[in-house]
Parts: sequence; structure tokens; C-alpha cells
Amino acid sequence: MPEIQYWEPDLERLPRTELEALQVKKLRKSVEDALRTPVYGERLRKHGVTSSDCIKSLDDLRRIPFTTKNDLRDGFPYGFVSVPKDDIIRLHASSGTTGIPTTIYFNKGDIARWRNNMARSIFATGCTKSDVFQNMITYGMFTGGLGFHYGAEEVGMLVIPSGAGNTAKQFRMMQDYGTTVLHATPSFLLHVESKMREEGVARDSLKLRKAFAGAEPYSEDTRRRIEGLLNIDVYNSYGLSEMNGPSVAFECQCKSGLHLWEDSYIGEIINPDTLEPAKEGELGELVLSCLCREATPLLRYRTRDLTAFYTEPCACGRTHRRLRRITGRSDDMLIINGVNLFPSQIEEVIMAMKEVGNNYLIVVEKDGALDRFTVKTEVGPDIFMDDARILNALKEKIRKTLQTSITVNPRVELHENGSLPVAEGKAKRVQDLRLKDI
Ligand code: ADP
Ligand code: ZN
Repeated sequence: MPEIQYWEPDLERLPRTELEALQVKKLRKSVEDALRTPVYGERLRKHGVTSSDCIKSLDDLRRIPFTTKNDLRDGFPYGFVSVPKDDIIRLHASSGTTGIPTTIYFNKGDIARWRNNMARSIFATGCTKSDVFQNMITYGMFTGGLGFHYGAEEVGMLVIPSGAGNTAKQFRMMQDYGTTVLHATPSFLLHVESKMREEGVARDSLKLRKAFAGAEPYSEDTRRRIEGLLNIDVYNSYGLSEMNGPSVAFECQCKSGLHLWEDSYIGEIINPDTLEPAKEGELGELVLSCLCREATPLLRYRTRDLTAFYTEPCACGRTHRRLRRITGRSDDMLIINGVNLFPSQIEEVIMAMKEVGNNYLIVVEKDGALDRFTVKTEVGPDIFMDDARILNALKEKIRKTLQTSITVNPRVELHENGSLPVAEGKAKRVQDLRLKDI
């Protein structure tokens, strides 16, 4: 393994007892901030949390009620703001497709803390000021653009704010400026690789060595596929706009789970049905309390994201616990003829097959009283669409492997390499047409 570098050596390796003491101290401050907001002010008092004195240890966190996305919408636009409006310098809103956007506000200190956490995350993957960083993600309200932008500048990297889309232009920039590090969604990185082959861009003409991939779930096989095809190291990046955006949790050079930056967030894993804490190491919903933001304090926020903590420490020496790869959101779960299924389970199976191409889509529709479930996937570049025998054999192989692993019998459709739609932002992997029939 390459030599490990720390952005903040002391904080990143703080002994657990000290780290937890720091969390309590910061939580007390966040509770004070929260009490000043219209929504929390009323809520916390109702739950008997009238001042920061009510928080003496991390166990007291449980005295604080959960906060949900709906609460944020109900409090829109300024119900969760704890500072005078003049002190707010920026807002970001969730990329949510429907309804009222969940909006988060930042004061100067908040932006500085976020930038530092981003720099810490980027540095943890082994990047240095010598790197040239192409940020191939949407800018604007989406936190992924500006978040990485400022963090990479803080590290001292040369930042190319390329934004998402337009692969031909992206290749030009990579060649002209000698890009070494990319940031994109995993689905866009796969698309970049397909396009590279299609447009005959030689790998040797690029200096790429790393990529950060996040904003949507992806499997370990997908990571390996991107790494193999592009000959780079890929690091998983997790965040959500309610918690600033990226830099909530990030993989280090060991690439074995994402360090949750516990001096900035308190993470709990709960059973989403009973709301009780999950057992150690057990999969459940991640609940986060933000310790690094004054303008919009959020406590015990239910992320809906499903994950678990690794119990053993990381080889890198950081003491901040690691999260497992997020398998999806609890509200992503599909129920197909009574069987519970996450899109990530399908991805795990198909991305492990080398005959399968880089893109896929799941379609669920009504067929009388039953649900019909189709997996559309592209074939790899070496498979010709006019060889019916090979196509049928591949279809059958995918169907059987899926049936064994997910116990639902899907229809499989094969599509030509590069022919399924690609999103510029987050990939839309599921089309649930049943909802139209209701
Ligand atoms: P929205 O909630 O509208 O999608 P965000 O941009 O804040 O808006 O998205 C955050 C969500 O994206 C997370 O809650 C999680 O579901 C997903 N996400 C972000 N990073 C990852 C990742 N590395 N792996 C899996 N899912 C991720
Ligand atoms: Zn580590």
C-alpha cells in the first residue's frame, strides 16, 4: 500500500474516548443552535430538551426526536435556520425530483468546515497538490459540484470545473490539461469508458490515476469494472445535501468502507421499522446528527440509506468508524409479487458478468394481477447483436443467475452496447410503471 497521508493527523487518529468526548461537546453546541430555530425550538422543548445541559453523554442523544425529510419540507423555507438571515452566505437544495426542495443554509464558518472536510476526504485517497482534477459532475444547487470544487482547491489541486455531460469535450480537457483525477457518478464513469472505446480515445493519451465515485449506489463489482476498464483507483464518496453533501463519509487508500468523519457527524444505525438501534455490525438505516453546521443544525436526521458499521478498525490508523457501501435507500425497495428486492442486488449480479455491458435498466409493470419485471441490459462491446445463438445463451445465463440469487424470475432484454439512456446526474435505474396503473 502507498504511504498513508493525513490532512489532520491528530483529529483523524484521535483515540475513541477523546473523539466521543469531542462529539458530546459539539452536540451540546448544536443543541443550543437548534433551540434557536423555530421548528426545533418547539420540538426539543416538548421532548424536555430545554438546554444543552440536557446532554451529558452520547446516550442523551436518544432524548432528541428523529428528523425526517418531510419535517424539512414542513419547515420550508426558514424553519430550521438558527442564525440571522444576514449571516447566511449560501444555500444548497436536494436534487429530489418532486415536491418542495429540502434546503440547507450555510454561514461563513459552515462553508469553511465543509471545505476542510472535503479536503480531508480527497487527501485521504492519496491526492496531492500535483494532481489535476476534473470535476465531471453537475454544479449549481447540487452539492457535489461546489463541494468537491472547493475541497480540491484547498488541497491545492488544479481544478477543472468541467461539469457533467459532453464526453467528447471531457476527453479533450483530459488530454489538454493532463487530468489525473476525476469525479463523477459511477454510471457516468462507465459511460465515459464506453465512449472512450467508441471514439477511439487511447488510454495512453490520458494521465488518469484516480476517480471519486458517489451520489448513487453501486456495487463492488461495478467499482472493479471501472477500475479495470479505465486502469485507475476508484474511491467511494458518500453524502447527502441535508448533511452538507459529499464528505460525510469517504474511503481512504485501503478502499474497505467509508470513514464517517465522526468529529463532524454522529452516526447511528437503526432498524427502520422499530426505530430501535440495530445490533453491532447489523444492516439498518443510517441516522446522522450534524456537528459542523451552525446555520441549519440537523439532529438525528433519518437518511433512509441502508448500511452498517464495520466493527474492526481500519488499517490506515484512522479511528473514525467505517460504513459499509450503501446498498440503497429503504424507500428504493421494490416489492415484486411479494418479494422484497433492492436494485443494487440486481446490479451485483449483472455487473459481475463480463459479457454484460456498462448500462442497465429495471422495468416493473402490471401484468393482470401480477407484477412483470424486466431487466434490460447492454451487451459488452465484443458481442454482436446479430448472433442469435450467443444472445439467447447470454439471456438465459443472466435470467438463471438472477433467479437463483434474487428468487424473482425476470424477463431479460439485451440491448446494443451504448444504446440505453444515460443520465447526466444520478442514474435512473428503475422504471416502476405500476404506479401509473393505480
Ligand atoms: P436527493 O435526496 O434528492 O437524491 P442528494 O443529492 O442529497 O439528493 O442525494 C443524497 C443521496 O444520494 C443519499 O441519501 C444516498 O441515498 C445517495 N448517495 C450519495 N452517495 C452515495 C454513495 N456513495 N453510495 C450510495 N448512495 C449514495
Ligand atoms: Zn482507513
